[in-house]
Formats: sequence, C-alpha cells, structure tokens
Amino acid sequence: MIKRQKIYEGKAKILFKGPDPDTLIQYFKDDATAFNAEKKAVIEGKGALNNILSEHFMKGLSSIGIPTHFLQRLNMREQLIKSCEIIPLEIVVRNFAAGSMSQRLGVKEGTKLSRPLVEFYFKNDELNDPLVTEEHIVGFNWATQAELEEIMTIALRVNDFISGMMHSVNIKLVDFKIEIGRFFDNEFEKLIIADEISPDSCRLWDSLSGEKLDKDIFRQDLGNLIDGYREVAKRFGVLPNQSFSELKEVTK
Ligand code: UDP
Repeated sequence: MIKRQKIYEGKAKILFKGPDPDTLIQYFKDDATAFNAEKKAVIEGKGALNNILSEHFMKGLSSIGIPTHFLQRLNMREQLIKSCEIIPLEIVVRNFAAGSMSQRLGVKEGTKLSRPLVEFYFKNDELNDPLVTEEHIVGFNWATQAELEEIMTIALRVNDFISGMMHSVNIKLVDFKIEIGRFFDNEFEKLIIADEISPDSCRLWDSLSGEKLDKDIFRQDLGNLIDGYREVAKRFGVLPNQSFSELKEVTK
C-alpha cells in the first residue's frame, strides 16, 4: 500500500497530498471538538455525514456559479479538493442571533436580525479566533480591500442559496461559517469556498419545532449529535445506506 503524505491535521479533518499538484484529499474525522477543543469526543459516523453533506452544499453552490474547492467524493470519508491558499479568516453570516453573538451583545437566542450580518474572525486558535474588523483585515494584509468586497458578496450569496436549500426541507439557517481561499487559474487569482459546509459549521434549527440539528447538540449536551446530522442528511436525500461501523473501515 502506498503511504499518503499528510499535509495538515486539524480538529475535524486531515489533508493529504492529492494525485495532482493542485489537488488535496480531505479526510473527515469523527472527532468532535467545541470551545476551542476544551470539549472533545469521537462520534462514530460524524465524518461520513459531514463529507456527504458538504459535497451536497458545495455542488449546489457550484450549480449557481459560486466556485468551491470541491472536485469529487472519493469514498465515505474523503473528497478530492482543489488546493488553495486559505485566507486566515472565519467568515460568519448570521440571520438570527445565537452563540457568541448572543453572549457578546446580550441578544436573546433566536432573535431575527433585520438583515443578514457578516462578521470576520481571525483564524488563530492561540488567540481564540478573535472578532476583527475590515480595518484589521486590510491593515494586516490578510486580504486586500478588493478581496474583502468579493468575500462579502460571496458570503451573502452563499447565505441566500443555503438558506433557500434549508428552507425547502423545513430547516432554518440560523448562522454559518465559511472559509475562502485563493486559487490560481494560470496567473489569475480566483476566490473559492474551501473547508466544509456541514452541521459542524452551521446552526440549523427545525423550522417548526425549533429542534437543534447541528453541533450545538454536542456543545450544549442536548442529546445524540448523530441523530441531528442524520436528520439533515435524510431530509436532503443523501443519508448513506451503510451502517457507520462499515463507514469506519476506510483507512487513514
Ligand atoms: N463556527 C465554526 N467554527 C468555529 C467557530 C464558529 O464553524 O471555529 C460556526 C458555528 O458553528 C456557528 C457560526 O460559525 O454556526 C457562528 O459561531 P459563533 O460565533 O456563534 O461561535 P460559537 O458559539 O460556535 O463558539
């Protein structure tokens, strides 16, 4: 067996060298972390569900002309992606108050915002991903002013599209986080959506009952995380047939 070359291991994913120089293999782990990895667990099946759901959302985005890193799903845990230079920002879009924003500003969870709100966090675990302004982003050269404007446009388009997808299956998109990277197409730079879009990176509430179907189940000890993720996959018709113990078989 040929040994893969590991490029990077994060909290929930591993990146391996891909078959071509501008590709990578993204492996979804079953590890769940919250509060900057202070809370940890291994939840069987989480990786496979995130792999399939991220594929589903990324394909939807490409279908309306929003470029993403997704190329092809390889198996239940892995996908082939375009390699890009990640802009060191977590881009959060919120439709309803929740999580850190509710805490910071004392706004009741679930309060509808008068319009979608885009926030930027500097991707730095040691600093606990601090909230930053556009001035910091341009001032510290994390992105140019032109890139920042494009990032805002992309973030709001993603919000419109994913909100619509969720609405069609009776799910409210409360908020989500995306990461964006620079991809060089010959000498031209293009911004593409990277990382993942999954219940790990979105807050998803059932439209009728308000039940949480995302990582808050784990953060707040609300029950079995997998039940929420499975429900999301089921509503989109992408729930895998295999049992999770079979899905575990894919080797690292
Ligand atoms: N989020 C994420 N990764 C992070 C921080 C946040 O995917 O490192 C997502 C989170 O799941 C939620 C949104 O971004 O959907 C907004 O998160 P928030 O700022 O409220 O922080 P949290 O309460 O999750 O710490």
